[in-house]
Amino acid sequence: MINESVSSKFVNFKKGLLICLSGPSGVGKGTIIEALKLAGTPLTHSISITTRQPRPGEIDNVSYYFRSREHFHELLETGEILEHDEYCGNLYGTPRAPIEALLAEGTDVIMDVTVPGSLETIVNFPDAISIFLLPPSFSELRRRLTNRGTESADVIEQRMKKAIYEVRQAAKFKYIIVNEDVNQTAKVIHHILDAERHRSERCIGIEDYILGR
Ligand code: 5GP
Repeated sequence: MINESVSSKFVNFKKGLLICLSGPSGVGKGTIIEALKLAGTPLTHSISITTRQPRPGEIDNVSYYFRSREHFHELLETGEILEHDEYCGNLYGTPRAPIEALLAEGTDVIMDVTVPGSLETIVNFPDAISIFLLPPSFSELRRRLTNRGTESADVIEQRMKKAIYEVRQAAKFKYIIVNEDVNQTAKVIHHILDAERHRSERCIGIEDYILGR
């Protein structure tokens, strides 16, 4: 096991990890991110920009930056959006500047994004850690989406249809986890991040340091 105080001297080790979490709506991405934080995993959840209407209880600039389509397109044109996608009629995007600043200062960042959003991010950040969450079954996904009570029957149907396409993209991700139990899934992600921190690419030059050269 590489000693933290030694490996932290290496630039790539000090850089924060970028995690792209995808999976069908209702699979539990938000709940997993909360569970990771509660378990003490040091992660910052990137706040996205969306043109979707806020749901009851959602707060502007906290849950999302709720913006008009015009504003979203302006941000796209000026390059302020790192990745974006249109999902069930609404635009979603990740602001670029906060992510780049957090990674540079060594903070790990988790993005909760659509499949194309993760794939676009990996093109720009090839060492991003992509994780796909699968539901235990399609009937369980429908149950979770319905029980959440945040979407109309129409929207649930749209999201279930989209889920078929999304599940078929799972193999494009570095890791796949079936989200049966929130705490178990959070534990697996915690272990993945631990292992990723110790990849040899993150410790370039460590041999010379150890050998005193
Ligand atoms: P919801 O409307 O349920 O909040 O989100 C719908 C979908 O949009 C979810 O699958 C979520 O992962 C995705 N999403 C949220 N923020 C972003 C983003 O910034 N970029 C992309 N590409 N997808 C996002």
